[in-house]
Amino acid sequence: MRFAPSPTGHLHVGGARTALYNWLYAKKTGGRFVLRIEDTDARRSTGDSYEGILRGLRWLGLGWDEGPDLGGDFGPYLQSTRGVFYHSDAQNLLEKGMAYYCFCTPEELEKRKEDSVRKKLDPKYDGRCRNILPEEAAARIDRGDGHVIRFRMPDEGNVVFRDIIRGEFSFSNSDLDDFILIRSDGKPTYNFAVVVDDARMRISHVIRGDDHISNTPRQVHIYNALGYRLPKFAHLPMILGEDRARLSKRHGATSIDYYREKHYLPDAMINYLALLGWSLDGKRELFERKALIEAFSLKKVSKNPSVFDNSRMEHINAEHFKKMPLFPKTVLAYRVLKDEGILPPDFKVDMSRPVDLKLVPGKEPILEEVLKEDRDFDQKEFQRLALIIKVFGNRLKLLKDIPEMLRYYYKDDFAVDEKAVSNYLDSAEARERMLLLSEELDRLKYFDVETVEEALRGLADRLDIDAGELIHPCRVALSGQAVSPDLFWVIIFLGKKKASERLRAAANPKG
Ligand code: GLU
Repeated sequence: MRFAPSPTGHLHVGGARTALYNWLYAKKTGGRFVLRIEDTDARRSTGDSYEGILRGLRWLGLGWDEGPDLGGDFGPYLQSTRGVFYHSDAQNLLEKGMAYYCFCTPEELEKRKEDSVRKKLDPKYDGRCRNILPEEAAARIDRGDGHVIRFRMPDEGNVVFRDIIRGEFSFSNSDLDDFILIRSDGKPTYNFAVVVDDARMRISHVIRGDDHISNTPRQVHIYNALGYRLPKFAHLPMILGEDRARLSKRHGATSIDYYREKHYLPDAMINYLALLGWSLDGKRELFERKALIEAFSLKKVSKNPSVFDNSRMEHINAEHFKKMPLFPKTVLAYRVLKDEGILPPDFKVDMSRPVDLKLVPGKEPILEEVLKEDRDFDQKEFQRLALIIKVFGNRLKLLKDIPEMLRYYYKDDFAVDEKAVSNYLDSAEARERMLLLSEELDRLKYFDVETVEEALRGLADRLDIDAGELIHPCRVALSGQAVSPDLFWVIIFLGKKKASERLRAAANPKG
């Protein structure tokens, strides 16, 4: 199995789906997953794109067994460095008479094509150089005449191949032309390079987008001519946007980088991408990676295009997030808060009693990576965050919402809901109560949930008011919002000093 991207742009959702299906199939069958970079088009290939593709695959957790960075037995894995193989195989075809040198110039070809179009004839190459004798060709090459190498397509007959997903295909050879194998600059064409590489890299299954079906008959000819064994082909259905047009930039984000930057979960992306063209039983929607590997089969890949549905993607992402254990969830959240500049916080919180939370780092590589990578990793902040996440529970639905939802625990410039202020805090009475509450907190020796709760309720009793009359305004004063998790925990997470400071600020808004 292999993924063979051309490094000419982002890792696209469709490319990632192709990579995933190859990866799943390799994992399922105990095969090897090969990454080959098809960079023969020097003008369009860029180093940035190459890096981006590898970064995207790594982020998705689609590791490869052989590739340009890792090497392997059948390398190198960059097409631009495999020239000798293409030339040796082209030479082989020339010697067998299955390919020939063509000296037609691009201008001549263009002119003949225009003529054919005008005369309503098939504009394919007319085979003019087919019968140039090898000696003559050699002499012309010596003379420095520009030339390409073309495949000698049989005039008659059909080329037939089977596709695991789409069944049998048959193309008439007379519809295929003497296509180019090696261009005038010595570079191989896609159709030639892909066969030479797949064969020499011992690729058993060619799993790729169905936009390549029309290339496959030419490729089958090359396999046969070179005496290479045909791989099995599986052409994946197209991915469409919600308007059923081919998925493109027009439909919004199509690059994997976008989802990485927006803090989607790689496992959720994998789950969603797997469903773009494959389904176990038409019903089950949530899959962990391991379950996907077990369930995946090429036979169940659909022939029909699938539609990229953003809301389904969001839903799957939220479900994965919900299911994550606290520790990895905290690691991801910690990273996001750092990425978004929310960590380090504006203020230090000393939760006076140690937080009782047993956080044992798991074996997941991602966790070790974070802890290793992060030189100023702050264990105390990490524990505070874990506890915050625990108390928030399912209120935190998406990783990407965390910076906004948790901002008030870290920054003083958090968003304030003006309606909540006018409902609960905007009266002399409420302000006076916030001052009393802050004094109450200042007096506390222990600062844990029970003590804080007792103090607040005690104050409410003394003032002869309902505890809610303190709780609601206090919540707005501390978080800017009318809703939050259990207020006593919010107070603990902010710490005595910060909680008291915000209460006093609320008591004296102009001061
Ligand atoms: N480089 C080709 C592409 O990106 C690969 C096609 C194939 O898998 O054969 O479309």
